Amino acid sequence: MPGGEPLSTILDASGAPAGRRLFGLSNQQLAATLLEFSLAPYRLRQLEITLYRQRVESLDEVTTWPKELRDRVAAAGFQVGMPRIVETFRSVDGTERYLIAGDDRQTVETVWMPEGDDSPQDDEDRPNEPGAWSRATICVSSQIGCAVNCQFCLTARLGIIRNLSAGEIAGQVAAVLNRHKAEPGRDRINLVFMGMGEPFLNFDAFMAAVRLLVEQVGIPESRMTVSTSGIVPGILRFAQEPVRPRLAISLNAPNNTVREAVMPITRKWDIAEVIEAVRKVPLRPRERITFEYVLLGGVNDQGEHADEVVKLIRRANFPAKVNLIAWNPGPDVPFTMPRPEDVAVFQQRLREQGIPAFVRRPRGRDIYAACGQLKQTGGLLEIRKPA
Ligand code: SF4
Repeated sequence: MPGGEPLSTILDASGAPAGRRLFGLSNQQLAATLLEFSLAPYRLRQLEITLYRQRVESLDEVTTWPKELRDRVAAAGFQVGMPRIVETFRSVDGTERYLIAGDDRQTVETVWMPEGDDSPQDDEDRPNEPGAWSRATICVSSQIGCAVNCQFCLTARLGIIRNLSAGEIAGQVAAVLNRHKAEPGRDRINLVFMGMGEPFLNFDAFMAAVRLLVEQVGIPESRMTVSTSGIVPGILRFAQEPVRPRLAISLNAPNNTVREAVMPITRKWDIAEVIEAVRKVPLRPRERITFEYVLLGGVNDQGEHADEVVKLIRRANFPAKVNLIAWNPGPDVPFTMPRPEDVAVFQQRLREQGIPAFVRRPRGRDIYAACGQLKQTGGLLEIRKPA
């Protein structure tokens, strides 16, 4: 497991331990962590509602608790510990990219896409009022950096720095919902776990975050999609989960030879092994597996490649669709964007042969928020000495 254990102690701006995080703990974990306070079950429930439904930032705001109890818990070193947005980049298309501070001084990247990203989940055509949004997608990170080393991806340049905890993963969503005053249940929020990192190499924390987001924050699992580069043991574990997002496989090549060149992880688990593992995932009614396919100019974007993808999906023989993503340029990444006419032909070849294929509209390219562009801009937060 790359990256080691996530940190559980929150550091203050000087790097010193500042408190123990409550945000991110499940009901049982909260009960065990706060055992010394002998809290009645209804007090724990009040805390959960305040942490996850109201998403407060300080224990003082747990107003359903008597002040004396809030003070005692705070005096013992506990705090909410909701991740904070420390920097925002706004694109001309309304997309926002955030640097969010985790438990230590490292930052992680999260993206807000109002009106979604044209993925098939976003199938309603609602009017777009100026300055308003009717639905949105949040792209969530699962690790700081990534060990998978996809050749077209900027995040890969970081290597793996560390895993995120469940609180840091779910906390990205909470922080972004608060910023936009969005309410799951009232507002239509989709989550895609496609930010920095490979979720299935941080499986336990990722799934714990999913459970919190479904059961506590109130976002249905049918509105979530996780994308994996094809970590077979992770897919097999995922298949056993009772509560799980939809599954996307980051395919990006028509055969093992091309895939090895762009995704070296293929040497560990080839396309056939990945597809065999996916077959074990029990699909819900009308659910389809998504194949994500980043089109790289002249590498994997020709008509004959599309024909190979069709054969591959027919052999897989499960309900599937393809999301095509024109590669987003990044500094020093040795690929070129596909020509628009090649993207169109690729999509057409898939559709003509009965494979649903969608071209994803690039979002936030100008602020490095688009797919494969997330790279911890800003790096470590600057430590400022008190004046
Ligand atoms: S595309 Fe995803 S899995 Fe591949 S290196 Fe980038 S972040 Fe990691």
